[in-house]
Amino acid sequence: MSMIDLNPYRRIEDDLQQLAQYTEEPTRKGVTRRLYSPQWAAAQRHLVQLMRGEGLNPWVDAVGNVHGRIEGRSRHTILTGSHFDTVRGGGAYDGVYGVVAGIFALSQIKKRCRVPEKSLEVVAFCEEEGSRFPMTCLGSRAILGAWQPEEVARLVDDQGTSLFEAMQMNGLDWRSMGEANRSDYEAYIELHVEQGPELEDAQCAIGVVSEIFGQERWLVSVRGDSAHAGTTPLARRQDALVAASAMVLAINTLGYRYEPIGIATVGILEVIHGSINCVPGHVQFSVDFRAAQDSVRQRLADEIRHAIEDEAKRYGVRVNISPKTVAQAVPMHESLRNTIGERARAIGLSQMPIASRAGHDAQIIAQALPTAMIFVPSAQGLSHHPDEYTHRQHLMNGSVVLESTLEKLANG
Ligand SMILES: [Zn+2]
Repeated sequence: MSMIDLNPYRRIEDDLQQLAQYTEEPTRKGVTRRLYSPQWAAAQRHLVQLMRGEGLNPWVDAVGNVHGRIEGRSRHTILTGSHFDTVRGGGAYDGVYGVVAGIFALSQIKKRCRVPEKSLEVVAFCEEEGSRFPMTCLGSRAILGAWQPEEVARLVDDQGTSLFEAMQMNGLDWRSMGEANRSDYEAYIELHVEQGPELEDAQCAIGVVSEIFGQERWLVSVRGDSAHAGTTPLARRQDALVAASAMVLAINTLGYRYEPIGIATVGILEVIHGSINCVPGHVQFSVDFRAAQDSVRQRLADEIRHAIEDEAKRYGVRVNISPKTVAQAVPMHESLRNTIGERARAIGLSQMPIASRAGHDAQIIAQALPTAMIFVPSAQGLSHHPDEYTHRQHLMNGSVVLESTLEKLANG
């Protein structure tokens, strides 16, 4: 602990409160800061100023990610950071905590050892949540060059503005997007609030992430027969909503069976052309399911499919399952995990391995670079919620572990 001066870290909470003011819906509780909105642009300028103030020579890349850097003796670069966009009505910690803590970690290292062996960089990714355009992790995909021009060209928000137009309004040119791609990164460490209750329940200060859950999303269409709500006897109905309800319960039961290595949720349920005096003929619902390993996710997928088909048979309805997105489970890099664990131990903080059931930029970057994540507790496990909160002490703990890990990786 003696190596590290905690005082500068007291500022992190204040900086997070300041950044929380940049919200598109000031009358609504929480933070709404979606990609390329005016409030997003204001937060971007704020981060540039913050990095400049800490002597990190900031710049904005071709998609709007903000970078700051300490030049080491070698060009090989250790990267840290997270995203600064939010969901609608989100909190003040998700994403931006890892950015602010990364800025302070680099600033402290710069003050202590003027030129590290390897270079260190902090990045504020422009977008991770997919809350404006139907695509996630644009910022981290861009630095890896892991995006398809045709896919990005199709993206339009719910107001009909295309991604390319939104970029243009922020002085960015989509034709230059490829310039965000970098090849000098050697490792990535992301600090993030947990977004679940495990660390708080265990009264543990630091979570060393073991893997990020794989995730699959389906859209299920259930078709029965629309009929008169008064004159059609119950036994003769093909009620799509009753069938769908049985499917939702069956999926929930499977979720319980797989937890904690898997989980399943129906988040959207819609009666198509529903009417108060009609037996529902057509229902659509979503399924989101996740698992620590791809083999477990595959098993869970099979069981969900069977459960849906069984209920369809029982209620005499037809179903169509359309898989929408798949993300593979991603294990975190073992030696980086060990380094984080050692640093936490050296500082005297409790720690435990923890799986991330939420997606992160680290999930994208781990496909190209050795990657690890550090979690700190979220009060009551709340996240993507206006009441998201992490205590100042936890914020400082995570920042200090991040700093110590980065310094170790940069200097060996
Ligand atoms: Zn996040």
